[in-house]
Amino acid sequence: MKISGGCLCGAVRYESSAPPIVTRACWCRVCQFIGAGSGTVNACFRTESFTRHGETRDYAGRADSGNLMHRRFCPTCGTHLYSEAESRPHLVFVRVGTLDDPNLAVPAMTIWTSQAPEWACISEHLPRVEQQPPPAA
Ligand SMILES: [Zn+2]
Ligand SMILES: [Zn+2]
Repeated sequence: MKISGGCLCGAVRYESSAPPIVTRACWCRVCQFIGAGSGTVNACFRTESFTRHGETRDYAGRADSGNLMHRRFCPTCGTHLYSEAESRPHLVFVRVGTLDDPNLAVPAMTIWTSQAPEWACISEHLPRVEQQPPPAA
């Protein structure tokens, strides 16, 4: 199977030859900046099955989990595409809104709910974790 996606302007494209390992909705404070007020939804792929085309820029910084994260975005349209944790180089965390078909990644849990605002719409049907859950794989 092949999953593809890219940024709003089309300058950056990516594809994965394997389905995501896990998908999570995240309400950490950083994701609220990237998600423009909402959280983000991130599908975790293995780096070995993931191919990218086009230039990205990187905003590096510490996540609330303590991990040093590289957050990659399109320098033309500003779309955040994926992030990578230095401690877990075999994984890439793709912003699900950039998939050509976002239905291919279904969240399995909501994380960092302790950081969500009171009005956040958080699924009743998914497990909630107040902070960072154990690593995906
Ligand atoms: Zn773009
Ligand atoms: Zn987050």
